[in-house]
Amino acid sequence: MDGIPLVPSCVVAPLLIAVDFDGTITLRDTLHVIVDAHGRPGLWDQIEPALRSGEMTVEEAMQTQFATVTAAHDDVVALVREQAGTRPGFADLVAFAEAGGHRLVVMSAGFRCVIDEVLGDLGLRHLEVVANDAIFTTGGCTLVWGDHRGDTCEICGRRCKRHAIRERHADERLIYVGDGISDRCASLLADQIFARDGLAEWLVQEDVPFVPYEDFHDVIRVLRTDPAVVEAA
Ligand SMILES: [Mg+2]
Ligand SMILES: [Zn+2]
Repeated sequence: MDGIPLVPSCVVAPLLIAVDFDGTITLRDTLHVIVDAHGRPGLWDQIEPALRSGEMTVEEAMQTQFATVTAAHDDVVALVREQAGTRPGFADLVAFAEAGGHRLVVMSAGFRCVIDEVLGDLGLRHLEVVANDAIFTTGGCTLVWGDHRGDTCEICGRRCKRHAIRERHADERLIYVGDGISDRCASLLADQIFARDGLAEWLVQEDVPFVPYEDFHDVIRVLRTDPAVVEAA
């Protein structure tokens, strides 16, 4: 019997959902939490203006901050667990993505050793994470520039999240969820941006449209109406 020829499957996920970690998946930026407790408190606030204006890069700020941090790995992880908190609905967003065949990637300028623990607590240790890393000891902290390699960004001139997203992006509709400076260049690649806090302020200034969100239930609600999302009735 003549059937319909099978099309070779080269199915691309309908959505690529890139989600920032610090201040997005977590309520408080874990880098700030760590520096405030184990480094020089208030240093982020001092550096913030130079960072926002672009006089200092995210990496330079991190180097300056973490040069002051002396704490053992376990103490850092315990502190983050106690103080960072997670934004409601992230596990639901992951469940939504997995049920719909979407790809979700955590895109962080922060530290894998912290991210893995927080995601583990949410039962999400299996997620794809692009991040840097740090080795925490009581004698000092060593930053490990991890996954953000390759070409420098044509916008900021750094190895920001933009390249890592491009490497993973094919034809899917790209969704970006973030809150801060490290999300700026990457968010501009997205078909839809969900933004809050400093990222939202910057996008307003740049006249780039975005959807504000408070938690991941807001994100899911909007994604359910996305043209690339067809959910079983
Ligand atoms: Mg952030
Ligand atoms: Zn960039």
